Amino acid sequence: MYDVNKVRADFPILAREVNGQPLTYLDNGASAQKPQAVIDAVTRGYDNEYANVHRGLHYLSNLSTDRYEAVRGIIARFLNAGSEDEIILNSGTTEGINMVAYSWAAPRMVEGDEIVLSTMEHHANIVPWHFLRERQGVRLVWVDPEPDGSLDPAKVLAAITPRTRLVAVTHCSNVLGTVVDVKTIVAGAHDKGVPVLVDGSQGAVHMKVDVQDIGADFYPITGHKLYGPSGSGAIYVRAERLAEMQPFMGGGDMIREVTKDAVSYADPPMKFEAGTPAIVPTIGLGVALEYLMDLGMDNVAAHEARLASYARERFKALNWLNIQGDAPGKAAIFSMTVEGGAHAHDISTILDKKGIAVRAGHHCAQPLMEHLGVPATARASFALYNTEAEVDRLVEGLELCHRLFS
Ligand code: PLP
Repeated sequence: MYDVNKVRADFPILAREVNGQPLTYLDNGASAQKPQAVIDAVTRGYDNEYANVHRGLHYLSNLSTDRYEAVRGIIARFLNAGSEDEIILNSGTTEGINMVAYSWAAPRMVEGDEIVLSTMEHHANIVPWHFLRERQGVRLVWVDPEPDGSLDPAKVLAAITPRTRLVAVTHCSNVLGTVVDVKTIVAGAHDKGVPVLVDGSQGAVHMKVDVQDIGADFYPITGHKLYGPSGSGAIYVRAERLAEMQPFMGGGDMIREVTKDAVSYADPPMKFEAGTPAIVPTIGLGVALEYLMDLGMDNVAAHEARLASYARERFKALNWLNIQGDAPGKAAIFSMTVEGGAHAHDISTILDKKGIAVRAGHHCAQPLMEHLGVPATARASFALYNTEAEVDRLVEGLELCHRLFS
């Protein structure tokens, strides 16, 4: 039985007040709060166990290396990767997708090649592909969501042509909460010989992920949304694709041998991890993922689904509230506008006075905002520690916004 009060007690920040009101943290889509176990691991990592990894033959370096390297296995388990060698540790999704662009895509794409994207991608899964468009003449082919915010896999597959070299889609929209049927997209794209990058930044937070079952070629995740420290993250790269990749950053740790005339590289995944990594944040991410696996991602998903359906019921009664996207099974992410003149920034400022944290703006998804025809929304994004009482507080806050602006 999922006990949300017990879960809340694991997150010290949730006990604080903001503007004299109990904190209602609904900005989880941007970054999630950290459980005490993660905070303790970070503190311990610095106050008692810190040294650089991979380099030393001394006790602390070996300890730090063991703790750091163990995270690769934890991530492999969390994503059900076939091997921990398919996990490249990095600073998060943005770095992961840029690495795919530089290490895999750029060397194998020429002018006129195509990348299929959905219009609901985060800029992190758009801008690296624009680099290829600007520098190499690669064409970006866009697939719009349906009116309810869902993404039709058939339309994505229909956009594939003989020139398509990659499909890049999100697992879960950070604006609409839409959960994309990535398994069908991957199967169809693979039938046509096209690899698929699935942006797991939001998906891995809200549901149990099995990268082998999905069949994804690339699946980046970002630690700070997964209740881990910022600066941590990873990308799953299927072994076949790893073998095709050239290193993106050069430096220490990723080499086998360097001479004045030549360089040879370490085997993957080290080949793609140049320089001193985010040692302690990565160790913290491992603790966060263990925490999630102990709770059970299916239990987390069920809790959030209950919250989402309660929120939908409450929002239904507010006929002046517009929620973007209502795809079946959407995650508990609600982007909203209020009729009557309240701008998204007004909404977030008024809610903040009541201790409620939401995000306002374009959410790094400008093509989607343009498609929706709204310049900005206020986004309430729920997490495993949120409650129905917090949905009620949000509704009260929104009612106040509406009263003030109508
Ligand atoms: N992709 C999606 C869907 C996101 O929601 C985010 C963050 O908001 C990112 C990518 C980028 O993640 P990061 O900034 O941690 O690299």
